[in-house]
Amino acid sequence: MPLEIEGAPSGWPPRRWARVAAIETITPRVRRLRLQGEDLAGFELPNPGGHVKLILPAAGESRPAVPLRYEGRTAIWAEDAQQPFLRTYTPLHFDPDRLELEVDLLVHGEGMASGWVQRAQVGDEVLVAGPRGGWAAPQDGAWYVVAADETAIPAAEQVLAALPDASVTVLFEVADAAEERSIPGTEGHDVRWLHRGNATPGVPLETALRDLDLPGAPGYAWVACEAGAMRRIRAHLLHDREMASDHVVTRGYWKLGAADHPDGDYGQDDLGHGH
Ligand SMILES: Cc1cc2nc3c(=O)[nH]c(=O)nc-3n(C[C@H](O)[C@H](O)[C@H](O)COP(=O)(O)OP(=O)(O)OC[C@H]3O[C@@H](n4cnc5c(N)ncnc54)[C@H](O)[C@@H]3O)c2cc1C
Repeated sequence: MPLEIEGAPSGWPPRRWARVAAIETITPRVRRLRLQGEDLAGFELPNPGGHVKLILPAAGESRPAVPLRYEGRTAIWAEDAQQPFLRTYTPLHFDPDRLELEVDLLVHGEGMASGWVQRAQVGDEVLVAGPRGGWAAPQDGAWYVVAADETAIPAAEQVLAALPDASVTVLFEVADAAEERSIPGTEGHDVRWLHRGNATPGVPLETALRDLDLPGAPGYAWVACEAGAMRRIRAHLLHDREMASDHVVTRGYWKLGAADHPDGDYGQDDLGHGH
């Protein structure tokens, strides 16, 4: 049974317990978690690029502590509870028969989730909240550009699977050549792996996008990466390329210097939705 807590705000997505069934090293920096549990019955993948919140245990714990109750939106914790933390991830694959959800987590240095995945063990438990969001890819594009850094490659895989037969350019920004891997759905497309090296995150994507030759007929761009770079790319596509705003999908997946960047950063600051 999904977790129920006294006084929890109504309308919250269910919080499902899941156990770490496997941890696979995909590249030096990417860990694929297979999360398994009866609570995942009824889970459905959202539209491409949707997300879940993973509620992860504090250091030294093997399952996240749970609040005693809520008062309004405030969680009340037992005095000795080591409070868990929550981060945003892409539910990559879901097997409804085995009740297994796969999520790729990037190891990137200072982050709490990045630290957790390096010490996680098979048998540890997490809570999965959601899913929410996602992009129902319009099918009328003459071309598509899909641009992602390594946090957004799982979402890009889903976006690619949802595109019609059209000209597709795929830009993937990763730390270095060791992070390149085979991504389903890229076959037959123009795929470019960009190595960041010492560059500021997002700058290789931005430079590659500025240099792209895009056909005149209307197309769509889906871009997800560091929030500052995303804003520069968005401005370029809307103002220099004069793309219509409903053909430009931009997502800030994380922000330099900020922990737990909010999941709804679409770079639409002019509309008051940004952060
Ligand atoms: C809709 C959505 C889907 C996402 N899907 C995935 C996914 O499938 N896989 C995945 O790995 N991430 C994904 N992310 C990104 C992930 O939520 C962030 O990278 C998050 O900050 C990681 O949490 P953390 O605890 O490791 O770092 P935080 O505690 O949040 O941040 C600590 C520090 O690390 C920095 N930091 C955060 N991310 C990175 C990074 N990638 N590279 C360098 N420095 C970084 C921050 O700027 C901050 O200074 C997604 C984000 C969104 C909004």
